[in-house]
Amino acid sequence: MIISVASGKGGTGKTLVATSLALSLKDSHKVMLLDCDVEEPNAHVFLKSAIASSEAVLIPVPKVDEERCTRCGKCAEVCAYNAIAVLGEHVLTFPQLCHGCGACSYLCPEKAISEEPRETGVVEWGQADDLEFVHGKLTVGEAMAPPVIRKVKEHTNNDGTVIIDVPPGTSCPVVEAVKDSDFCLLVTEPTPFGLSDLVLAVETIRELNIPCGVVLNRAGVGDAKVEEYCRKENIPVLLTIPLDTEIARLYSKGVPLVEGMPQWKGSFRKLFDSIKEIVDERDRDTER
Ligand code: SF4
Ligand code: SF4
Repeated sequence: MIISVASGKGGTGKTLVATSLALSLKDSHKVMLLDCDVEEPNAHVFLKSAIASSEAVLIPVPKVDEERCTRCGKCAEVCAYNAIAVLGEHVLTFPQLCHGCGACSYLCPEKAISEEPRETGVVEWGQADDLEFVHGKLTVGEAMAPPVIRKVKEHTNNDGTVIIDVPPGTSCPVVEAVKDSDFCLLVTEPTPFGLSDLVLAVETIRELNIPCGVVLNRAGVGDAKVEEYCRKENIPVLLTIPLDTEIARLYSKGVPLVEGMPQWKGSFRKLFDSIKEIVDERDRDTER
């Protein structure tokens, strides 16, 4: 089962939930944690993971042979990302905008475009206690997270429970990280900002046709509008974590919640059981 842990905005406690869920299950399940928050991966800080191997993430970017090129402009026409342009006698490429789709080289009538690899990040993996751990790191200054996220997800081990720490927001990197999940946990807080971002996140996850549930973090800080919204939309609130200075203190020191306060382990196991029930129910409905 693949469970992604997402949030409409950063700072809601997504990594706290992902790491605590993984650590609560590791004694009874084979668990793997994939940190796909590649712009700012920080699950390793909590898991104290030992990195055993790494691999560069390369995307193929175009290289133009100016001798062969006739400046016909076809490449610029087909590029959806404005990563190649014909200006007078020159063809300019903008590697940082290139998605490595290969359309320009494929469609160049003169076969004047070859491809060269360009490094955009790195994937590292290893063990954290009894957990398998993988994370990606987007190179500073690079804009495109999806190729790094795809590379992290290539390590998915389908033989067990996989927990994905998703980047914050609702854009392409989120879709890339969440797609193919069996369930998506949305971590939010009971504030107007939390609600507004939750609504956007729910819309995105529903487009992907993935069942979801909410973890309400820092409960007690705001109002009841998130719960009202969840009730109205029939989204289960599966876990509530109160606003608590001890929890905040542990987080600021890089101590996972279930290690600093082991009494939370049972709540996270119950959270997993609730997710499993929802996923099993959905599988049964699909079979019918
Ligand atoms: S499509 Fe090929 S020939 Fe035409 S401008 Fe681009 S590189 Fe040159
Ligand atoms: S590989 Fe794709 S994204 Fe990159 S320049 Fe060519 S058409 Fe544009």
